Amino acid sequence: SIMPATLAAVSNGAKRGILFKGGVHLEHLGSLKAIAFDKTGTLTSGKPVVTDFIVRGNENADAALAMLSSIEAQSNHPLAIAIVNYAEEQGVFQREHPQIEDVPGYGIRAWTDSGEVLVGNPRFVGKDLIVQFNEGIVEKLSNEGKTVVSMKDAEGILAVIALKDTLRPEAIQAVNDLKQLGIRSIMLTGDNEKTANAIAKEAGLDRFAAECLPEMKVEELKRLLKEYGEVGMVGDGINDAPALATATSGIAMGDGTDVALETADVVLMQNDLTRISYAVKVSKKMQRIVK
Ligand code: ADP
Ligand code: MG
Repeated sequence: SIMPATLAAVSNGAKRGILFKGGVHLEHLGSLKAIAFDKTGTLTSGKPVVTDFIVRGNENADAALAMLSSIEAQSNHPLAIAIVNYAEEQGVFQREHPQIEDVPGYGIRAWTDSGEVLVGNPRFVGKDLIVQFNEGIVEKLSNEGKTVVSMKDAEGILAVIALKDTLRPEAIQAVNDLKQLGIRSIMLTGDNEKTANAIAKEAGLDRFAAECLPEMKVEELKRLLKEYGEVGMVGDGINDAPALATATSGIAMGDGTDVALETADVVLMQNDLTRISYAVKVSKKMQRIVK
């Protein structure tokens, strides 16, 4: 009969680090044709480190970094944490405690002693200003798979900071295992096209959608559902929750935010992406038993 097989598989999954919030979710996994992955914190460790810091003309680098870190100290975005750590390593102290506004998918707006400052991606600070600052260096850093964040003051771009997040050690294997099962892997990210392309190549992904604002992840998932029929979504952030709810199977990383964990159908308790293909295989085997 169906029940004992499902129960056994669900309890076996728990022993292997996969939490199914009900047998029906295990059943769904076997029919997936594609899986969409969030980038930061899902395909990557989510702990980026600063690799480059470039300031305008003959501005004082420490002063620029002090301002940048005092702004980022008000945010808990993974990029913000990395920038504050970097400033501390450089022995740079935050002098200000500016008031800030978080602009999800774009960056931060801050009101500093020297006026309004924007920190974030090119769309936020203005692509034309980046071209003026140094388009070549920003393009080079992005092609290296680095996330480039810019800081804009009244005079234009004051500084550019690059951060590199590394793929989870098992990401390539996980994507390859899914490919063997005939499942396509797609990355959804708020990062720019060039950075996304470099990471997607590294992970061996079939395709990606870059510059996705939080609400665009859901739209992209709906498009994928139309194209593939049954689509899974793997994510860790608050931003991912709507897409996790829309997917055939919503899969959350165990270290994800509470909202992601609550919304998901399946949780990867040890953050191990290779558990996905394992669960798909178990589900397919169960479907055969049931039929
Ligand atoms: P992801 O989909 O990669 O997890 P997010 O939606 O969290 O990305 O952020 C998208 C982009 O917005 C980042 O790549 C970055 O350029 C910019 N951004 C967001 N928050 C911050 C921040 N606190 N400091 C600098 N840039 C930020
Ligand atoms: Mg994320």
